[in-house]
Amino acid sequence: MSARMPFPTEHSGSADLHLHSAHSDGTEPPAEVMAAAHRHGIRVAALTDHDTTAGWPEAADAATSLGMTFVPGMELSARHDWRSVHVLAYLFDPDHAALRNLTDRIRESRLGRVRNMVDRIGEDYDLTWDDILEQTAQDATVGRPHIADALIARGHVRDRGEAFDGILSPDSPYYVSLYAPDPVTAVAAVADAGGVPIIAHPAGRDGMLPPRIIDRMLEAGLAGFELGHRENVEPGVTRLRKLVAERDLIVTGSSDYHGRGKPNLPGEFTTSADMVARIIERGSGWAPVIP
Ligand code: AMP
Ligand code: FE
Ligand code: FE
Ligand code: ZN
Repeated sequence: MSARMPFPTEHSGSADLHLHSAHSDGTEPPAEVMAAAHRHGIRVAALTDHDTTAGWPEAADAATSLGMTFVPGMELSARHDWRSVHVLAYLFDPDHAALRNLTDRIRESRLGRVRNMVDRIGEDYDLTWDDILEQTAQDATVGRPHIADALIARGHVRDRGEAFDGILSPDSPYYVSLYAPDPVTAVAAVADAGGVPIIAHPAGRDGMLPPRIIDRMLEAGLAGFELGHRENVEPGVTRLRKLVAERDLIVTGSSDYHGRGKPNLPGEFTTSADMVARIIERGSGWAPVIP
């Protein structure tokens, strides 16, 4: 695994609003994700698979049967120039046509893109499309993590981190980019669907989005930033903390749990009860599911 920020020790609550299941690149079905969150003391949980809402019903049932509140969510893929931007979306209408069209288009492009990458990798390594299918749940949003898992199964790399640092890195000859809307379009689509858009891990090592784009996202309905996330680094966090205070925006903290796909554990960052209340108040496309 690549170098990571050390964990902070403070836990501000028991809400974890960023968790992945095998409907995207997590390794567990939604019910197991909710059970893992519960074991780690989480009592308000969101499922935020990449570009799909397919896990909502199973996660909602599992969460409520464990006594947890379920906040339906998604992590929408976007891109600004070469930089990938992830828009967390909460409490939107999953049947909203424009947002649906967007996620359908992204998911279709992801499929072609992964096929393309596998063709390229297959010229140098023993790896076929069937290897990917073996690592991918039915209808899941595919991505580089599934290629990573296939490379691990074939013994070409030890873990996802090694795959991402090498064969799957954007600098590698095997890399193919995917279609993703620009971040302003993505934020607007979530807001139009009644959702609450929050930029995931906004201060990563790639650096921050330009202020001009942040302003335009705020005009398009951006609600806030996920400032508690292990991939965030300074000076971005401090800069965004200032912006958040000036504009009274929503701040979240989350784990970005991917099961065995990443070292992130539920509850390593959490969101305060106040902020959860603000998200629930602002979301108008779908309701949280209360036990
Ligand atoms: P993709 O969307 O197909 O380009 O793949 C990006 C996804 O890979 C993100 O959603 C991350 O969850 C995952 N990812 C990125 N870097 C790593 C890493 N070093 N180890 C494990 N997973 C990673
Ligand atoms: Fe992911
Ligand atoms: Fe992300
Ligand atoms: Zn994520």
